[in-house]
Amino acid sequence: MIRQAVLEYDHSNGALDQLYSLIGNRDALVLKGFNGYGEAIRVSPRLAEIPSVRFKGECSDEEVERLKAHRPDVWIAVGGGKLIDTAKRIAFTQSVPLIVIPTLVSNCAAFTPLSVIYGEDGTYLRYDTFPVVIERVIADERLLRDSPYDYFKAGVIDTVAKWFEARYISGTTSRDAGIQSGLSLAAQCGALMDLSIREDDFRHYGTDIRSIVDHVLAIGGAVGGFGDAGTRVAVAHAVHNALSRFDSTHHWLHGDKVGFGLIVQERLTSSEDASFLENWLQAIAAPTSLDQLGIRFDQIDELVDYVVEEMTIQGIHKIEDAERLKEILRNLQEIVYK
Ligand SMILES: [Zn+2]
Repeated sequence: MIRQAVLEYDHSNGALDQLYSLIGNRDALVLKGFNGYGEAIRVSPRLAEIPSVRFKGECSDEEVERLKAHRPDVWIAVGGGKLIDTAKRIAFTQSVPLIVIPTLVSNCAAFTPLSVIYGEDGTYLRYDTFPVVIERVIADERLLRDSPYDYFKAGVIDTVAKWFEARYISGTTSRDAGIQSGLSLAAQCGALMDLSIREDDFRHYGTDIRSIVDHVLAIGGAVGGFGDAGTRVAVAHAVHNALSRFDSTHHWLHGDKVGFGLIVQERLTSSEDASFLENWLQAIAAPTSLDQLGIRFDQIDELVDYVVEEMTIQGIHKIEDAERLKEILRNLQEIVYK
């Protein structure tokens, strides 16, 4: 199925100023996080006049249930990925439209018709796909250019992953029009590896950075919207989910762990891009060894069990050889680069 969630996407300097005419005379309610909300008010002080409710931090069934007590004419999500996922779930449940104001350039939550659901303790549970109407994504340059760089970098890795994971599932071309469209957009996401993403580039916010931000926030989300199961997550995200079960990895961002998962995935398929990918991740100071992720040699068997379990949960049944996966992870325990 082809499914897109967003009616309008405005990435501009001043995009947030259009919010008030967009709301019109409807009752709006802001779902606000912690840091990003204050930044958004700095950019557009009028935002503080709209009633708001605080997000507790996890996109969990309990949090969705709690927030459903409110029912505005339009929800406004101001924050990062988990907050946006929560707002989408509520908006869909209530058949209420949603306006999304991302405060981080770290994921495609603003563009995807799905929510990743976690337990209240932060463990990954599942993702739910559903039709949701996002009236507009407001990507205001004034807000995004000052947002945390580490999140941007992790967001780029997670977006580059679209290419490798879509290719893992569907190959490089497909006769299915939706999957082929998803693959074409995923290839664009893969090409981000050729652009410079240093912090001073990000702050300068030139043409290349604008394009990268569009890919992280929007195009990356459209990949799965077109290709559906044919272009969604594969081994790299299964490795991410497995890593997330170890406390030692919790201070790494989502995209950092997905990047490590990509190395595993590409080695598993003996891909000729594996070393290019590893060099790129090393160059941008993303973790490329289990040691950096705080996983010890004697924890590898446990990690492999989790990876196999996660792949089964997601319906990816392509690891025939768990021994080979163990071997790859043993080789990735320490930094073994020449
Ligand atoms: Zn991801």
